[in-house]
Amino acid sequence: MTQFFLPFALPEISEDEISEVVSTLRSGWVTTGPKTKQFEQDFAEFIGGGVEAIAVNSATAGLHLGLEALGIGPGDEVITTTHTFTATAEVIRYLGADPVFVDIDPDSLCIDVNAIEPAITERTKAIIPVHFGGRAANMTAILQLANKYGLRVMEDAAHALPTSHAGELIGTLGSDVTVFSFYANKTITTGEGGMLVTRDPEIARRAKIMRLHGISRDAFDRFTSKLPSWYYEIVAPGFKYNMTDVAASLGIHQLKKAHLFQQKRARIAAMYDVAFANEPIVLPPHPEVRDVHAWHLYPIQLSDEVKITRDDFIKNLHELGIGCSVHYIPLHLQPYWRDTYHLLPTMFPVSQSVYERTLSLPIYTLMTDDDVDRVIRAVKGLLG
Ligand SMILES: *Cc1c(COP(=O)(O)O)cnc(C)c1O
Repeated sequence: MTQFFLPFALPEISEDEISEVVSTLRSGWVTTGPKTKQFEQDFAEFIGGGVEAIAVNSATAGLHLGLEALGIGPGDEVITTTHTFTATAEVIRYLGADPVFVDIDPDSLCIDVNAIEPAITERTKAIIPVHFGGRAANMTAILQLANKYGLRVMEDAAHALPTSHAGELIGTLGSDVTVFSFYANKTITTGEGGMLVTRDPEIARRAKIMRLHGISRDAFDRFTSKLPSWYYEIVAPGFKYNMTDVAASLGIHQLKKAHLFQQKRARIAAMYDVAFANEPIVLPPHPEVRDVHAWHLYPIQLSDEVKITRDDFIKNLHELGIGCSVHYIPLHLQPYWRDTYHLLPTMFPVSQSVYERTLSLPIYTLMTDDDVDRVIRAVKGLLG
């Protein structure tokens, strides 16, 4: 019997989102406006801790704005992990600064805290940890190091809604900026979108100005305040990174379901954990007790005793109608990063080894128990 192809990821969009989008379309205000404002307020409330939330059209935009607001520029160095998506590092280059890549810790697959200190130079200005797969990086140690050396910290929380570290929700820790992604396959989605979160009023002010052309007040305020609607001031050569009300309409309802979505993904992760407990694979890192893992990804690593290669494993899963992916092809293997910064696999032994053995299994809210069982049977079958 042929079965439908089970995609690697799918968003869960319901009638709530659809009718909100339709009402926005009918309202006559489709770009940044009341829905974006509401989404920002809801998001700030969701994260808590008195943060301000600034909606943008991608997490990449948010990361760029965050670093810009931190004053990163040419000659500066920013420490980050090689085991991430290129967006984490490209924003450093947007500002003419240089990323300094370090390896990951095998137990968390997040940045290796012990590798950070040796990478610090007099040019180092900031650290960008990534909460890989939705499991928190060791923020306690990272913030301590940043404190000791006077460095800024921006969390790439593209996978981490909702994730906690030491009982505190990511976004409320002592970093300067945290950026979430609402890309189509992330834990909640607006199609494209992101949110910059900060408690620093100066960072918030700068990010809001730079999000929209360096205009000192955004378009919505302009058309509703008492000042003449035609008047605005340009205070910097800003960007075009604002979120539309169409996207925010999705976000408002996705956010309401963020905890429910997390529970659904955690349940799938638990089913995989039980099923694979005695198989020759390394399971994904788990959070500290009582911490929340967003379970954006479920990356497994094939052990040496597995006869079939990782590439063939993925090919076979595809032939069985199951989509999977690889997180990540490390940046040290990507031509631009490798050649620009003379990176070698031997400089990142953990990331390199994980890359060679890893694949990410489907883990999303629309998966039925039968879908999960189908993945489990296929993986067990391939493991022999
Ligand atoms: C998806 C992702 C981003 C970029 O998110 P966009 O919203 O697509 O710009 C950044 N960092 C990581 C780790 C990601 O997975």
